[in-house]
Amino acid sequence: MSSKYVYAFGGGTAEGAASQKPLLGGKGAGLAEMARLGVPVPPGFTITTEACIHYQRHDGAYPDGLRDQVAAALARVEELQGRRFGDPEVPLLVSVRSGAAVSMPGMMDTVLNLGLSRAIVGARIAAGEDARFLWDAYRRLLTMYGDVVLGVAHRELEKILEATRDQEGVATDPELSAGALERVAEAYEALIERQTGAPFPQDPQDQLWGGINAVFDSWDNQRARDYRRLNHLPDDMGTAVNVQTMVFGNRGPRCATGVAFTRNPATGDADIYGEYLVNAQGEDVVAGTRTPQSIHPDDQGAGGMAEDFPHAFEELQGVARTLEAHFRDMQDLEFTVEDDTLYMLQTRTGKRTGPAAVRIAVDMVREKLIEESEGLVRVEPRHLVQMLAPEFDLDERQKAEQEGRVLTKGLPAGPGAASGRIALDADRALAMAQERGGTPVLLVREETSPEDIVGMHASVGILTSRGGMTSHAAVVARGLGKPCIVGAGDLSVDEERGEVTVGGRTFQEGDALSIDGTSGEVIAGELATRESQVLRHLLEGAEATPGAAAFVEVLAWADRARRLRVRANADTPDDARAARGLGAQGIGLCRTEHMFFAEDRIMLVRRMILASDAADRESALERLLPMQQSDFEGIFDAMDGFPVTVRLLDPPLHEFLPHGGKALEDVARDMGLPADRVAEKAAALGEVNPMLGHRGCRLGLTAPEIYRMQVEAIVRAACVRQKAGGRVLPEIMIPLVGTEEELEILRALAEETAARVQEEQGVTLEYLLIGTMIEVPRAALVADKVARHADFFSFGTNDLTQMTYGYSRDDAGRFLPSYVEQGILPFDPFARLDPDGVGQLVRMAVEKGRATKSDLHLGICGEHGGDPDSITFCDQAGLDYVSCSPYRVPVARLAAARSTVGAGAGGED
Ligand code: ADP
Ligand code: MG
Ligand code: MG
Repeated sequence: MSSKYVYAFGGGTAEGAASQKPLLGGKGAGLAEMARLGVPVPPGFTITTEACIHYQRHDGAYPDGLRDQVAAALARVEELQGRRFGDPEVPLLVSVRSGAAVSMPGMMDTVLNLGLSRAIVGARIAAGEDARFLWDAYRRLLTMYGDVVLGVAHRELEKILEATRDQEGVATDPELSAGALERVAEAYEALIERQTGAPFPQDPQDQLWGGINAVFDSWDNQRARDYRRLNHLPDDMGTAVNVQTMVFGNRGPRCATGVAFTRNPATGDADIYGEYLVNAQGEDVVAGTRTPQSIHPDDQGAGGMAEDFPHAFEELQGVARTLEAHFRDMQDLEFTVEDDTLYMLQTRTGKRTGPAAVRIAVDMVREKLIEESEGLVRVEPRHLVQMLAPEFDLDERQKAEQEGRVLTKGLPAGPGAASGRIALDADRALAMAQERGGTPVLLVREETSPEDIVGMHASVGILTSRGGMTSHAAVVARGLGKPCIVGAGDLSVDEERGEVTVGGRTFQEGDALSIDGTSGEVIAGELATRESQVLRHLLEGAEATPGAAAFVEVLAWADRARRLRVRANADTPDDARAARGLGAQGIGLCRTEHMFFAEDRIMLVRRMILASDAADRESALERLLPMQQSDFEGIFDAMDGFPVTVRLLDPPLHEFLPHGGKALEDVARDMGLPADRVAEKAAALGEVNPMLGHRGCRLGLTAPEIYRMQVEAIVRAACVRQKAGGRVLPEIMIPLVGTEEELEILRALAEETAARVQEEQGVTLEYLLIGTMIEVPRAALVADKVARHADFFSFGTNDLTQMTYGYSRDDAGRFLPSYVEQGILPFDPFARLDPDGVGQLVRMAVEKGRATKSDLHLGICGEHGGDPDSITFCDQAGLDYVSCSPYRVPVARLAAARSTVGAGAGGED
């Protein structure tokens, strides 16, 4: 017996269900579930992804039993419909639709109206049916089949249609007569035969299997592979094929086709949202070739689906409620109305903007549709990132308005503000983004298509002149979290001349434009941006907008759920205050070298470095001490009640010295030395490989007076704050330790100094930890020994990654992108912690460290501390906290909670 490759749906039942997404694909699983729920779905069947995998692995051979199972399923549909496939009397028409387990917008191709032939069209016309509709359906079949299955250039087919419109003197396809459409069909047939060497298959069975093969083949086309690569999806999932009875939205004025979301995908507003086109077929809405109308009435209360199709609209609202209650999430729906009867063609989880994701999750928890923990699964880190993204500065925005630079308004499809040089095609966008070394690029097009994906990735924002909120550009931009405006009808794009005309002005490729994806406004030139509503609320006490309030609520759930604590990397009192406002529970990394670079200090630092003897050096350090102390007082004050980890000096001294020129002369004058003496000294401090050279604790051990001064400044500041009634929790961190002895000696130095200062100050600190960074692989390997002298470990994963791979952080840009491209590395290990190699060192150090000291504090302070995947790793490795840049703190709080509830890091779909 052969296995089951075909699952029927329709007629109120289905063999499959929503839970079988990997087998039936997203579309097939959704159709099956809708059929089970009694939602009106045209009957059909789904060929499984397993059949596709078999076909791929066996050079296009079908698995045993597939043909028979398809024939049986087709017979069932014929029975339900009272029609027969290929029968000129009562022809059944079907669509062949692809659908993988993970939605890939526009990646796979669909063919509609299969089962028509010249003979059938002729027979139906002879029987008195609508000739115009029949020829139109046939020519659409020829277009899609020609393009998708036979590989005839879409453009060539388009040209024929254009020429016919011109001959007939009409502007749009619906105005073409039956005769004209018949001529289009003839021309298409001739083109297909010329280009492929064979006539268009007139046998519906050949069409059906041609369509199925095309879907199977499309799994492996370039676009699909690109999409999977960009989204880190495996190549061996396969796609399912759905064969489904056709319903017609293009059979006259009582017909329509549309797309709807059960809630607004841009704002999250809890009301059905959608667009439709009267007298049109599926593809027309998504393709963005005609701008569809809203299902709701316009501002004047006119139009809308309730007026045009009252019965079908009521039913659609009911279906939306049913599906949302069932799937407990916002759904993205495709529907068709044929003669006032509603049919549902697709349901899937709707993509949404950051603000919408947050708002929908908060509303659904309130509506008791989902639990808080499920709400945390729904809101992804990138959604918060989007809400933290800047908006245009209000003053600049007003100025632009006064100067008449606001050019037009389109549909706000993806929120956020973006300014950039315009590129008119995706390849140019990519090239410009690369060649100008990261200059922001704005992609401006009539409409986008799947070939544009890579260019859309490379752009900071997307602007199109055509299409609605559900067009390709809008859907993809939402997925990418990029600002996007679509349907800016005032804008005309002349690709050939490389020009864009809008608001009476013309822009060349490379000129600057700005888009506000929240309001839909297109503005000439570049605009400065300002903090988002959320940041203004959290940091400046501005009144919470509904979006900001929802954001705060999601973080409150996160704080209740998470185990990991979140600290920030902050070097100044201002950063510390911002971090606290964003929910940081301490500072995980305060770098002291940044304090050294301050204008009033760098000279002293240089004197200290260039000092000819110890006394000279001591005197420079003595003057630096009160400055450092006041820095620390400010930071301890801002972080009152929370731990602050201060790292002693880390970079090589050479970095602080001037590299010739006027700066060098200034130092020389200040020190009363000849300039070439200073240049000589600076050169002497130079190293061949400074990152592996004389830095970190190696400096502390060879010039102990520097660390001594720093510890003194920290402890004095702590004493002052404690005397003033503050709660100070200082943690002194020694960088770049690779041997037990390094830490042992420096710990003794720090302890001695701390004891002396406390005695001088007459204060006993309630809290003072001394620990180390684990960033040299050897420290991880001997962590049990290092832990003898450490109260805490903080993983410095930037250096740890650099030294584990042996990749220079500063030079890896030359080959890392190519490594990722070639699949040598699955991702950039400086952006996301490598769990296998670097992660193994972390886990080992955690285990060995805790074996020596069960109450050892453990955290991470590398760049990875703000990356959701890495945070999940840290949670699982049992760290106590992660530390990241202040603006990343909300994201880290959410990511930590998502790890606890098992939601993973998040990302596309
Ligand atoms: P995609 O994944 O690109 O959305 P679909 O398979 O959903 O592809 O189909 C493309 C368009 O054709 C959609 O608008 C869909 O609603 C429409 N369509 C697909 N099958 C049918 C059908 N059986 N009857 C009417 N319209 C259909
Ligand atoms: Mg679809
Ligand atoms: Mg380091």
